[in-house]
Amino acid sequence: MRERLLIVEDDAVIGAGLVTALEANGYIVEWATSGADALSRCDSCVPDLVLLDLGLPDSDGTEVCRRLRGMAPETRIVVLTARREEIDVILALESGADDYLTKPFRLAELLARLRAHLRRSRPSEGTPDQLLVRDLSIDVAARRVTVGRDEVELRPKEFDLLALLAVEAGRVVTRERIMADVWDEHWFGSTKTLDTHISALRRKLDGTGAPSRITTLRGVGYRLETE
Ligand code: CA
Repeated sequence: MRERLLIVEDDAVIGAGLVTALEANGYIVEWATSGADALSRCDSCVPDLVLLDLGLPDSDGTEVCRRLRGMAPETRIVVLTARREEIDVILALESGADDYLTKPFRLAELLARLRAHLRRSRPSEGTPDQLLVRDLSIDVAARRVTVGRDEVELRPKEFDLLALLAVEAGRVVTRERIMADVWDEHWFGSTKTLDTHISALRRKLDGTGAPSRITTLRGVGYRLETE
């Protein structure tokens, strides 16, 4: 099913560019140019995700965010802001936004974030019950992990991290995507916690002396090796 996106952006160039890019990526896109326009469109048809500019001509973006959240509790809201001040971002997140991007942003990053959010809003789809990577077996429903015949005890975030790497086994998963998918973070803090969890997974999953099954791509992300 194609996802419905609502863009709320008064800048004609940015708005038109987003519509073109997002439609080209298969989304059904609506474009509102004011806060009032956004709220009335959301009232008639609830989108899966809203891309919300904070600097709108008729209203404060954080107030629009709060009202959208009230109308559509399940909808993901990603704030786009030219304002760099952390306080604006904090206000937006407190008003119910799920994430934010500072303008100018890279389209590739925006698309990656949208995919992560839309995937998380329907968690039952797309993930198989059982993931097998070499001798590693992950029962997603039961949240059990075995290496060979030995069960491995993982903490919740370690499990989520491993499951994500296993879904993409053989391919690199970027640090940004891991933070968005596993930690639901807004990138305030460092990603040191990610490195700590990778170390823990290696300690628990890798045999002594064997090369790690998780490869670090410095500055990019991690890959679970399939051979
Ligand atoms: Ca604006």
